[in-house]
Amino acid sequence: MRAIHFPGQQAIELVTRPWPTPAPGEVLLRVQRTALCGSDCKLWHRGSTLIPGHEIFGTVDHPGHALHGRRCCVFMPVHCGHCASCTRGDTHLCLTESVLLGWNRDGGYAEALAVPEQCLMPVPDDIDDDLAPLLLDTIGTAAHGLRTIQPLVPPPDTEVLILGAGPVGLGALVAAQELGWRRIWVADPRPSRLALAQSLGAQVHPVGDLQRRFHLVVESSGAHAARNQGLTIVWPRGVVLLLGENDAPWTIEETKPIRRKDFYMVRSFYFPKHDFSDNVALLRTRASDYRQLVDRRFTLDEFADTFPRFAAGELVKPLLVPGG
Ligand SMILES: [Zn+2]
Ligand SMILES: [Zn+2]
Repeated sequence: MRAIHFPGQQAIELVTRPWPTPAPGEVLLRVQRTALCGSDCKLWHRGSTLIPGHEIFGTVDHPGHALHGRRCCVFMPVHCGHCASCTRGDTHLCLTESVLLGWNRDGGYAEALAVPEQCLMPVPDDIDDDLAPLLLDTIGTAAHGLRTIQPLVPPPDTEVLILGAGPVGLGALVAAQELGWRRIWVADPRPSRLALAQSLGAQVHPVGDLQRRFHLVVESSGAHAARNQGLTIVWPRGVVLLLGENDAPWTIEETKPIRRKDFYMVRSFYFPKHDFSDNVALLRTRASDYRQLVDRRFTLDEFADTFPRFAAGELVKPLLVPGG
């Protein structure tokens, strides 16, 4: 089959790989859509022997299996199902398995892949192919983080600032509105992203501004400067929610505005499987808004041209259509 290989140093190769052979307990999934994710830039820079791509939606092609022919999203973390985290429902925080599809085993920038059957999340028929991948990072990660901190800074009148209007930041904007917050600002250096955020109902906050304070700061850029800004401007008893990621060491200068207040700094990673039906409901309610984030569909042949444009911030949430 055809697949994408990141050899390192921002090179991209379209390669031929053997057709996947699922192990016991796994099924073959034909990829319909895989969304590009900014976190893949790490693999693009450093290279990987595995096939990247972790926001995967496809059709099960496994005759005899209960889900044969079903359209499914792929839950990224492989999980054991019986450790203390898994039995509590925290399937994204498994204590014994740490493999992530698209990171530590082959992912979705390919025509097909083998998927552990516990990672299959069937998608209802009324959710169309172009929206289904948004149920993962864009909706799942953002909504899970917000649901986690919601009791600490309850809507509707606590003021929210979202730092970074990428897919997760924009996903957080829509999810926050649906969870009941009414006063939401967004900061991003890119005018086109701010325009999109405004069209979705946000107000604009200047990048780097330290004057205005917020009860909830959702940090979705992963930039250290934005994180430090959040710690500085969050109101006492407020929350800084860290959704962005960054591999570089983060230094916090313990200034007076940071030291002399009580506040919560909460990291939230991905989402548990049991959130999926709530995420489907969220997508149904706001489908036309989420659709605005999908700004390109492209084929494997177009991958090498499209990924660098996405990495440069020109595209919000492009979708690879391997069979397209
Ligand atoms: Zn992602
Ligand atoms: Zn587990």
